[in-house]
Order: sequence, then structure tokens, then C-alpha cells
Amino acid sequence: MKRPTVVIYDRLSRLFADEATDHRVDECRRYAEQRGWDVVHVATDHNVSGAAKLEDRPGMREVLSWLPRCDYVLAAKLDRFARSSLEFYRLLDAAKAMRAAIVTADNLVSPENAGLIIGVLAAFAEHERKMITDRITASKEHHRKQGNHLGGLAPYGYSVSGPVNAKRWVIDEPAAVILRECADRLINHGASLVGLARELNEREILPPADHARQRDGRELRGQQWHTTTLRDALYTYAVRGWLVQATPGKKRGALTNTPVRDGEGNPVSAGAPILDDETHAAVRAVIDGNSKGRGTERSGKALLLHVATCGECSGPMYKQRRAVNGKDYSPYVCRNGVGKQGTHAPNVVTGRYVEEMVSADYLKRFGGMTLMRWVEPDGSAVLQLADVTAQLNTMMSSLSHFADGSRVHLMALKQIAALQERENELRAAAEQAVGRWESMGETIADEWARRDDEGRRALLKDLGARVVIHPATPGAARRFDPERVAVDFSGPAWWRDAHPEDAAHDAIALEEELWEQAAR
Ligand SMILES: [Zn+2]
Repeated sequence: MKRPTVVIYDRLSRLFADEATDHRVDECRRYAEQRGWDVVHVATDHNVSGAAKLEDRPGMREVLSWLPRCDYVLAAKLDRFARSSLEFYRLLDAAKAMRAAIVTADNLVSPENAGLIIGVLAAFAEHERKMITDRITASKEHHRKQGNHLGGLAPYGYSVSGPVNAKRWVIDEPAAVILRECADRLINHGASLVGLARELNEREILPPADHARQRDGRELRGQQWHTTTLRDALYTYAVRGWLVQATPGKKRGALTNTPVRDGEGNPVSAGAPILDDETHAAVRAVIDGNSKGRGTERSGKALLLHVATCGECSGPMYKQRRAVNGKDYSPYVCRNGVGKQGTHAPNVVTGRYVEEMVSADYLKRFGGMTLMRWVEPDGSAVLQLADVTAQLNTMMSSLSHFADGSRVHLMALKQIAALQERENELRAAAEQAVGRWESMGETIADEWARRDDEGRRALLKDLGARVVIHPATPGAARRFDPERVAVDFSGPAWWRDAHPEDAAHDAIALEEELWEQAAR
């Protein structure tokens, strides 16, 4: 017997953008497994409000397009589907028209009790949405009234002004100038946080706390700029004039604080921006890049981590960060070739050269290829079908009110025939709707140019890149020898792992062909 099929849906609201969807999807998978259903598709919507119309959510459009081909649509909780009863009923209608059922993994809506409970739940969902909207509006008002919710001190670049209950941030120009200058030099002139902090100290620019003390006529404490001071001042969303708050469950800090948002999900502003959106996004990107390069994640950023292996022992080659006068001399090193514990000759190679070589190789082979994207069919036919079916049912039931053979009766019959024809068309369209590959109008080289080392490494691994590095010949010149490096691509995963039986058949066929040739 064919197992029932299920499509899993999850939605992430704008309010909780940092929340992970995985655990809810896992929950759904477990539920499907217990029931003996086959999961045929998982659709998710990110950053989408539960009040959004079904057709305005890409993930939900996938669900709609799957309706004709699945038995169940499953979400962890009812509110994942929709927080507006109107939209929820539209989904129910569409599912009903396709003989699919809506269920939730928390068992509130199960195949057995669906009809009974859904009406009540949908009403509650609507109620819940109102509550949340009210709560956010209230919190927005609260923060607006507070004006400066950090408790006294405005963020660096601003000072607080205005009456007690309506305090606003006004730009503190001498500090704002410093922020703009540092942002510009970080983004456009390759400056580092370390270098900038040192320079600010040399120029005797006061760090944030002392700057505020001087402004307020209090005694200075002779503080210095640190890398982290500058980082935090530039990284916080406060430089866009936005109120910020700690992320729930995390310590308050510039790296994790998020903007306070109003009922529509827009950041609440307390003053004019010091940096515009684009500049600030670029600053954050630069800082993210830097901060990932430190501490425990040091090796995480190397382009060839888990791609480069040692030709002596097949172990991984790690990148050691080393810079002299701002120039990058970081080498890739095999740990098995280091020191007295080493099991083979030292294997060290200048990272920059290997990375350039691998990049060039990759771009030469694949750079010109067009990027493709899988497009799920949109679910518009399914939604229209639900509408037409509803109209048809209304027409049918009103038919009995008209006298047989009367003008109205004949017109109604005509209309019913037309609707039935439309219903058939839409049903066919809904059932035939299939996904397709679509060109994104860009090449792999474009994508490569846009990514950082970490993103590029993902591209390399997508195509099964392998880089084997051999030790230098003893006594050879110290310059880079390309002969030491072998670059190879075993192809994308779907190709590498494609049907081993097929590969075996191909091998046998080839062998037979050779036998025949030899026999002739
Ligand atoms: Zn080795």
C-alpha cells in the first residue's frame, strides 16, 4: 500500500528572526515518522508575519503547489500556518479542494479531530495575534517614552536631550565625525580595528566614557581606546539612531543587541542616523570578518580548511595566521610535520600562493557557468481552484430555488457549466504544476567575487575540491613551486553520489565493449 505523503511547513516571524526553525521541523519529521507518512517536501518562510497573505509567502506558495500531490500538510503548531483566521480558512479551503488535510505536530489538530477543533483554534489564533500586536505597541510606547533606554548614557556619537518623558538622541558631532571616519577607513581603505584604536589614542581622541565625562564637565579617568571599544561603537545598531535591546537569553552587548521593533517590525528610532544603512552594513561585514578570524574560530576562516591535505600523511593542512607589516604571510602547515613529535618532514607552504592557485583553477574550470536556481511552482492555481469550487457549490445549492426552465434557471446552468470548465482547467494546471531550473542570470565567477573566504570554501566543497600539498624538496629554492600542489575536483555531490549501480553498469558495459573489440 502506498504510504500517505506529507509536506512540512514552518514559518519564522520577523519578531524572532534569530530563532532556529530546525527543531520545529525535526518535531514534524518525528510526528510524520510515527504516523508512517512520507515527507515529500519541507517548505519554510523566514521573516514572514503570520498575518501575511498566503500568496505573499514563498514557502506557503510551495505548500499550495504541493497540495494536489500530498495527503497532509503539517506544521509544529497552528500559529505557524497563520495568525489570521481569514488566511487560515483560505488555506483550509484550498486543502479541502485538493482532498489534503491540515495537521499540527502538537496534536491539537490531528486527522481525527480536525473538523471539530479548527474553527475554535483559528479564532484563538486571531485573538493571539491581536494580543501580540498590542504588546508590541505597548513596548514601543514604553521605549519611546524612555527615550534613552540604556540607562543614562547615550551611545557614543549621541547625547541625550529633551524633556524627561520625551528624551531623544541628538548627534554629538565631534564623536560622530570619529565614527564616520573610522567606518570609511575600515570599509574603503583596508584599515584594521587594532590600527585605528592605536591611532585614536595617539591623536588623543577620548574614548566613549571619557568623552561623555568631558561633555558633562566631569573628571576624566584617562581611559584609552581598545579594539573592542571601537568595535562595539561601530557595530551597534544605535549608530543608525535605533533603540537597541539585549537578545533574549544573551548577555547585553554590542555584538548581540538587536533593534527594538514596532508593531510593523520597523526599528524604533531615537534620533538621526550617524551611518546610513549601507555603510553600517558594510562596517558590520568587515567586523564580522575580523572577529571570526580571532580566537577559537581562527582556523574556521581559511579558504582551504578541510580542502587541503598533506601529501605525506593525508592529514588536514591548517592555516597559521601570520602577518608582517600588514602583509599576509600565513602558511598552510601539516601538524604531523612539526617539531620533534613530527612523523614526517616539515610540510609548509605560503597560503597566499596556494589560495591564488586554487582560485584561478576553480574559476578557469567553472567560472563561466551560469548559476541555476530551483523554482517551485507557485500555488496560484490551487488558490483559484478553491475559489471556483466554492462558487460552484453556492451556485449548485441555489439552483433548487429557481423554477425549471425559467430564464434564471437557464442562466444559472450556463454559469455552472462555465465554472465547471474553469474548475477542470485549474485542477489540471494545479496537478501539472512542477518545479523547474531557472537561470539566475549570473555566473559562478560573479558569485565567487561576492563571497568571503568562508563562502568560497563552500563553493569549492560543493564541487568536491581536493588540494594535495607535498613538502618542499630539501635544499630547493625558497620560492613557491606550483609542482608541490595538486588540485582536483571530483564534482558536485549529486554527481559523486549518483547511483552507484549505474556506475557499475557503465563499467561492465565498457568492459564488454573492450572484450568485443579484442575478439575481433
Ligand atoms: Zn602530513
